[in-house]
Amino acid sequence: MTCFYCGGNMADSTTTHFTEVNGHYIIIKNVPCHKCTQCGEVVFSGSVVERLEQITEQLEKALTEVAIVNYSAA
Ligand SMILES: [Zn+2]
Repeated sequence: MTCFYCGGNMADSTTTHFTEVNGHYIIIKNVPCHKCTQCGEVVFSGSVVERLEQITEQLEKALTEVAIVNYSAA
């Protein structure tokens, strides 16, 4: 797998995913990803994207303005 932007190598890594939905700030830590060793571009696999959407939907219903969760524990 090579980077879409710079053509560098993509290595397995983890990242912190940040998103804002309807005024809720959702931070998901330790998300598995592929990260470019040259430019740092992050790509998620399809199953991870689905899981992130599920977690975001769940947290959107929570009444907290800021939610910080661990990917593996969510
Ligand atoms: Zn790159």
